[in-house]
Amino acid sequence: MTVSVHEGLFTIDPPALLGARCDGCGHHHFPRLAQCPYCGVEQVRPVTLSDRGTLWGWTEVTVAPPGYRGEVPFGFGVVELPEGLRVITRLAEPTAAYTFGLPMRLRIVELHTTEDGNPVVTWEFAP
Ligand SMILES: [Zn+2]
Repeated sequence: MTVSVHEGLFTIDPPALLGARCDGCGHHHFPRLAQCPYCGVEQVRPVTLSDRGTLWGWTEVTVAPPGYRGEVPFGFGVVELPEGLRVITRLAEPTAAYTFGLPMRLRIVELHTTEDGNPVVTWEFAP
């Protein structure tokens, strides 16, 4: 059985990030919070965010962060979604070909496997 690396952040099929839209100021945010991080009101509505965006910034992680069990190196950066928010995200390789504004699409990838052999997945954006 496929396992999400972190519950509540994304869906696997179809691939989607779980965000929210504020009824007060209209801003979207991710990850989903009970209170708007921009204006503080508690009237936020759960939404599924767009699976497409544009590349805004990127780098390459060459040393595994603490607790990380996937492969290195991997891309890491910021993708701007049509909803107007920028998401910090894992990026597909190779990062050498990246340019500002490059169209990107969300996808689900296997990160590692559990001791029982079940795939553990996360999201990333790829060109
Ligand atoms: Zn707000």
